[in-house]
Formats: sequence, structure tokens, C-alpha cells
Amino acid sequence: MAEHKCRACIVYCMDFRLHEPLDNFFADQKLDGDGADVIRVAGAIKSISRPKEARDREFLLEQLKVAYELHEVRQFYLVNHEDCGAYGLEDVVDSPEELATHREDLRVAKALLKDRFPGTEVYTYFMRLSGKADLVD
Ligand SMILES: [Zn+2]
Repeated sequence: MAEHKCRACIVYCMDFRLHEPLDNFFADQKLDGDGADVIRVAGAIKSISRPKEARDREFLLEQLKVAYELHEVRQFYLVNHEDCGAYGLEDVVDSPEELATHREDLRVAKALLKDRFPGTEVYTYFMRLSGKADLVD
């Protein structure tokens, strides 16, 4: 069987408004050329940090494990975004409160992934609908 590896796995929300911003993000991070596994779920990192059901977290971690073991991914990109419906923060869009909530969830998810998948780098981003993506930690 031919070897099939890629550098990174990226997790982000299913939200249709992110298609174009994410194309640009891929190009900026040079993920398009190397190839990256892509996982899209509503709310993105919320399913890892504060899942509605424990099985939601396990499902997502299982997907990440496939990337880690099968494709030997050693970089994870976790991307949350502004005005995410899964977060229900529409009353505080573009506020310090919204950013703080995402920052905390990204921090929790990063720690969990670093623990679960040794030897990986985990990059956490908050993306505006304008396409601007800020590295947060
Ligand atoms: Zn969303």
C-alpha cells in the first residue's frame, strides 16, 4: 500500500460562512500544498472542551487519532470562529466576552490534545467572519 502521510489536521466549524476564509487560511498556513486532514463539526472545539454529550468528545478524539496514527499528523490546527451558532453568543459578538469564551475552550482542547497525542504541535486560532485569523493561547 502506498504511503499516505500529511503534516497537519485541522478542526473547524461546519458553518458555510467559513468556506472562503478557510481557503485563505489554508494558503496562508501552507496547508494546501502539504495536504491536511480536515474535520468539520458544528462548534468545532466546543465538542472537545465542553461537549453536550461525552460521546461527542470521544467521536472527535477518535477522528484525530486516525489522523495521528494513519497519516502520522504531528500538527493540529484548532480553529474557532466569531458568531458561532453552536456557542450561542450572538448577543456579545465581537466582544471581549466572546473572545474569552473561545480562548478558554481552545486552551482546554490544546492541553487535552497535547496529552493525548505526544509529540504534536497544537495551534489555536480564532477566526473572524472577515477571514482574519488570530493565533490565541
Ligand atoms: Zn460555528
